[in-house]
Amino acid sequence: MEKSISRRDFLKKSVAAGAAAAAVGACAKRPETPVEAGEMTYRKCGEDNVSLLGYGCMRWPFTKDSEGNEVVDQEKVNELVDHAIENGVNYFDTAPVYCRGFSETATGIALRRHPRDSYFIATKMSAYGRDLGDRQYEASIEMYHNSFKALGVDTIDYYLLHSVGGGGMERLHKRLLDIGLLDFFLAEREAGRIRHLGFSFHGDQAVFDYLLSIHDRVHWDFVQIQMNYADWRHASGRNVDAEYLYGELQKRGIPAVIMEPLLGGRLANLPDPLLSRLKTLRPDDSAASWSFRFLGSYPGVMCCLSGMVYMEHLRDNLKTFSPLVPINDNERAMLEEIATILLEYPQVNCTNCQYCMPCPYGVDIPGIFAHYNKCITEGTVATDSQSPSYRKARRAFLIGYDRSVPRLRQAAHCIGCNQCLPHCPQSIQIPKELRRIDRYVEKLKRGTL
Ligand code: SF4
Ligand code: SF4
Repeated sequence: MEKSISRRDFLKKSVAAGAAAAAVGACAKRPETPVEAGEMTYRKCGEDNVSLLGYGCMRWPFTKDSEGNEVVDQEKVNELVDHAIENGVNYFDTAPVYCRGFSETATGIALRRHPRDSYFIATKMSAYGRDLGDRQYEASIEMYHNSFKALGVDTIDYYLLHSVGGGGMERLHKRLLDIGLLDFFLAEREAGRIRHLGFSFHGDQAVFDYLLSIHDRVHWDFVQIQMNYADWRHASGRNVDAEYLYGELQKRGIPAVIMEPLLGGRLANLPDPLLSRLKTLRPDDSAASWSFRFLGSYPGVMCCLSGMVYMEHLRDNLKTFSPLVPINDNERAMLEEIATILLEYPQVNCTNCQYCMPCPYGVDIPGIFAHYNKCITEGTVATDSQSPSYRKARRAFLIGYDRSVPRLRQAAHCIGCNQCLPHCPQSIQIPKELRRIDRYVEKLKRGTL
């Protein structure tokens, strides 16, 4: 299935075949071919040569416009997209709900400056996640048509039912199967407006198993799963071990697109003792590169999505994937050890997906968890006021908290309404965790730890 080709070859051979008719169940295994230094690694999906590194467009950079409103920084997005395409990335994954609803438009603007046959667009039907009552079907179809307009395209290369699994079989029936939405998308694939149809999965394993059980009829072209070396055997919350998910896809020859390859950034910011173990083996490699090499070593992985907000992240990832060097058995064993040790760190498993946002009371849920996790990683969470590092740690935590989360958006403002709870694909007990962090902050402030 793996194949690395030169950029010129890629442009000649690849893509899209324009508005080609749907390649039903077309993504089959291909033999591996040797890779060349400096060239992106590609995987086959039907006629498509898909770059193993895919651009996750859920976290484009924002800036302020002349009236002080927060808007997507289109200039930066264009720069990032140009550099990615120039270096062989051709898979761009967006959704109507990303970047507060602006991602599809911003991604479309940046991509339309390039030939249509030089990139693949993946987007999603996100209305499935919301209960829209009687308007469920119409609202979903409207969202689908809006994606074409926002992206400025006639065909969508990879279309996903977004985040199925949350809410279990009941939600799947109510918002997808019983109202005929899946049949609508199958007809759209038949008509060629969708080239490949798949779903992204978070949550209830019964839903995953059911959707694969209808593969003979539906012919999923690809499936997006949460996979990284920590979730391989130690998935938390409602998530299912990636080893199982990947294995089931492999049995049916369905290519996997990978989300959360870095577990919301946690695997890119490992605690120092764990990072030094990796550095001993490959001093020049980033922590993130290990997770990507782990993923790329599985031949059924078609594409690893990474939400690269900064050019430095894009450059580092390009280095990892051009070409991808698979991990060996010793390295795999070490990553499994690190995954086990990570379980002991009391971090919150937030992946910064933002699905819980906005909180009606203004709480910056992912921002609070990100600061807390960062302090744990850096060892600046004080546990005892008698410890010699207490004063330093206390200061670092409190000053960093005010800097990264405005006071009005801090954990103290959570009223425990639970509205965010059902939206979290990681099943984090958000209000409970916020209360825990807030109690800790109060103790630090009062010096009563
Ligand atoms: S429980 Fe707290 S964080 Fe969640 S929506 Fe309500 S106020 Fe916001
Ligand atoms: S708390 Fe859950 S829903 Fe919110 S950003 Fe984190 S992982 Fe996503």
